[in-house]
Amino acid sequence: MKILLSNDDGYQAPGIVALYEAIKDLGDVEVVAPEHNNSAKSNALTLHSPLYVHRAANGFRYVNGTPADCVHVALTGLLGYRPDLVVSGINNGANMGDDTIYSGTVGAAMEGYLFGIPAIAFSQTQKGWAHLEAAGAKARELVQQMLARGVPQDSPWLLNVNIPNRPLSELKSFKVCRLGRRHAAEKIISQTSPHGETMYWIGGAGAAKDDAEGTDFHATALGHVSVTPLKVDLTDHDDLPAWAASLQAGR
Ligand code: MN
Repeated sequence: MKILLSNDDGYQAPGIVALYEAIKDLGDVEVVAPEHNNSAKSNALTLHSPLYVHRAANGFRYVNGTPADCVHVALTGLLGYRPDLVVSGINNGANMGDDTIYSGTVGAAMEGYLFGIPAIAFSQTQKGWAHLEAAGAKARELVQQMLARGVPQDSPWLLNVNIPNRPLSELKSFKVCRLGRRHAAEKIISQTSPHGETMYWIGGAGAAKDDAEGTDFHATALGHVSVTPLKVDLTDHDDLPAWAASLQAGR
């Protein structure tokens, strides 16, 4: 089994090192990850400047680009083969509910999925890397399960996984969930620069708005590892007929 591993926190982040260590004996694992922290870069691709790939002393390759750049470059020429699975993470913090739209961790996995390869994005629910080894062990368990059931080459899937920061003995089972929803993000933070200009910092993510039973928020709060299958089609299928009825076609 050939596994491509990436992330959005950068190739030196503890999360990708832990995930590599956890799954390295499950197949041929190659790392291609961003040089710097690229959190919240979603699916962005770098189109107007060149990308460079370097190899670190530990064998990880790093790119001066986004998470999606890394997977894109890997799959379109750098690797020279097609991996069976793309894995991303482990991210420093939750990617639940609306986070998945912004997440570079999900973006890296989604790039693999868009190329037709099954993919998994892993995140810890709290920042700070507490109990990272336990998260690695859970990630390994899921990757092993997925490899055992066989990776389809015709109908790929994309899993978004969030792991509570707990010791392994306190982590509960995998729970298949839908995404919850968050409130709007917190207010922007403004400061005055040393030059007297106003600087703005994007505020934190909003608190959970829909954390009902069956959501990722609910499952992880109880100590479960949430597993949400994602798809990419943003069409509002439910409202298609209503829109069709209300938009009168011109002649
Ligand atoms: Mn991140």
